[in-house]
Amino acid sequence: MTDQLQRRGVQAPAPVMPSASKLTPLGLDEVRITGGFWGDRQQVNADNTLPHILDWITRLGWLENFARMARGDGTHDGREFADSEIHKLLEGLAWEIGRTGDEWAERTFQEVSAVVVAAQAPDGYLDTNFGGPGQRPRYSDLEWGHELYCAGHMIQAAVARLRTHGSDPYVEAAIRLADHIVREFGPQGRNGVCGHPEIEVALAELGRATGDRRYLEQARLFVERRGHGLLDEGEIGAAYFQDDVPVREAEALRGHAVRALYLSSGAADVADEFGDEELAEALRAQWATTVARRTYLTGGMGSRHEGEAFGDDFELPSDRAYSETCAGVGSIMFSWRLLLAEGEERYADLIERTLFNVVATSPDEDGTAFFYVNPLQRNVPGTAGNDDTVSPRASSSLRAPWFAVSCCPPNVARTLASMAAYVATKTDDGVQLHQYAPATIRTPIAAGEVGLRVETAYPENGVIRVVVDESPAEEWSLSLRVPAWAAGATATVNGEPVEVSGDQLVVRRPFVEGDTVELTLPMAPRWTRPDHRIDDLRGTVAVERGPVVLCAESTDFPAGTDLLDLEVDPSQQPVSDGDGATVSLVSRAESDGAWPYTPEPVTAATAALTARLIPYHRWAERGPSTMRVWLPERSRARD
Ligand SMILES: [Zn+2]
Repeated sequence: MTDQLQRRGVQAPAPVMPSASKLTPLGLDEVRITGGFWGDRQQVNADNTLPHILDWITRLGWLENFARMARGDGTHDGREFADSEIHKLLEGLAWEIGRTGDEWAERTFQEVSAVVVAAQAPDGYLDTNFGGPGQRPRYSDLEWGHELYCAGHMIQAAVARLRTHGSDPYVEAAIRLADHIVREFGPQGRNGVCGHPEIEVALAELGRATGDRRYLEQARLFVERRGHGLLDEGEIGAAYFQDDVPVREAEALRGHAVRALYLSSGAADVADEFGDEELAEALRAQWATTVARRTYLTGGMGSRHEGEAFGDDFELPSDRAYSETCAGVGSIMFSWRLLLAEGEERYADLIERTLFNVVATSPDEDGTAFFYVNPLQRNVPGTAGNDDTVSPRASSSLRAPWFAVSCCPPNVARTLASMAAYVATKTDDGVQLHQYAPATIRTPIAAGEVGLRVETAYPENGVIRVVVDESPAEEWSLSLRVPAWAAGATATVNGEPVEVSGDQLVVRRPFVEGDTVELTLPMAPRWTRPDHRIDDLRGTVAVERGPVVLCAESTDFPAGTDLLDLEVDPSQQPVSDGDGATVSLVSRAESDGAWPYTPEPVTAATAALTARLIPYHRWAERGPSTMRVWLPERSRARD
């Protein structure tokens, strides 16, 4: 065991480490974000968000659930998945320790994880809501009990701990839990799956982290079992659980969005580790269809409040958008696995879009209040949440400090703490940059050690400068992603212009220290139009600036302006204005009739105004307001 664990400890500290993939991920010890948009958020996450989560799980008794279980008390506070928030906090702490070696994070990890580990049953089972005194029997409610979901989050957190610290009692406990699950649900065990996928992606990574194929086999078994109606669909329907169609036969993501995205991530790991090209092809096609037909401009996924689910194709209403923060995290997980496997930058494009417009939108600037749902329009001013009360999950209209279902805050925390792992990858032949942030990168490739420094104020401006600090003598390739929106991007190498075409700038040469590659992405704000089949968006336009979606927020308009009255003329270009844009609009003064439908268009007086659009991720930071991303085009017929 000891030898095995020592071998585990030398893995790169990153969330996803495929045995073999086209692109090799880099660990938190190889990429460091040194500041800027994401560096600032990582600091807020460390300083405020992680302690904030600890505070809430403590005061609500969710952590105490473990202590009670350890002393034979089956009293349980919170929902059936409350355990998972403690595990996600531990995962966030583990990445933070890997990122900075923070002492508070290390001490907190040890203290919290000791409480968790003490609750483990002798046979490895660990869940505070089942099997204890007065509780329902283990695995008696696979549809809604979330036991394997919670186990999955413990295993993911343990993988983070293993890769950033090495084994410890929490890691050992997670391995005992995984062994218990393999015994219980293996080929000869219960023919069941969890109502909420997550165990698949977790076991696959534990298999990678420990080299123990049994966990990968179990992940594969869970993926293959789904879609055969093993779960009681009740009133909600089997698609909610992705139990309607086998993963390899589905055409698009459907049902509960977070469930679908976690399952897809685990299935991508299984396809990768078993060389299952049929499954991989099915997942690629599902990703492409989902992105083309079921994804918001923000990268958000899930358009139905009912079932927190994907809608039909092109069913993407702005005001009723669900777009759960966790679905954004799940989308990044799925896209990242496909990027590693395929090497195609379209996956990194979606990751970027989702990072800037979903993940960055959820927490407020202090990192202590969060959006659970991320609609693209709000017609009634939200009500500010009380700093000291728990909100029901999606009903809070502004960011709330905590939720009865509080999956999103710790999901953001673990993502931000591990964010450096998504910045760059390598191959034998070079290094690929996928996300732009001020960073240092140091990693060996086949020819020798590569050291890079990324200097950028992105997305404030579009200049990305990569300075070579160390290079092997032989030539190698440095690649920089050119986002799909960045038509007209330019680049230089040591000041000399080079051509930019396609989705990557690839510079191949024998680099020497001081060589500088500079990519300039066009950051002028631009109009974006929706596919005409998105019926809710017909006749509207949005403004994007680089990877950032902009929005109109009532705070920036004259008092009394109803954003529903606004129209724009997209023949006039939006004007760059800091991190936003200024646009010319008209406001229609249309009074209420007795009936809001008429045989002919209503003639209305209009008033011209100029207003600033701000990044969507910054909305609702200035008190209750209304907001919209998509603006109706001015309709001449009605004037
Ligand atoms: Zn969530």
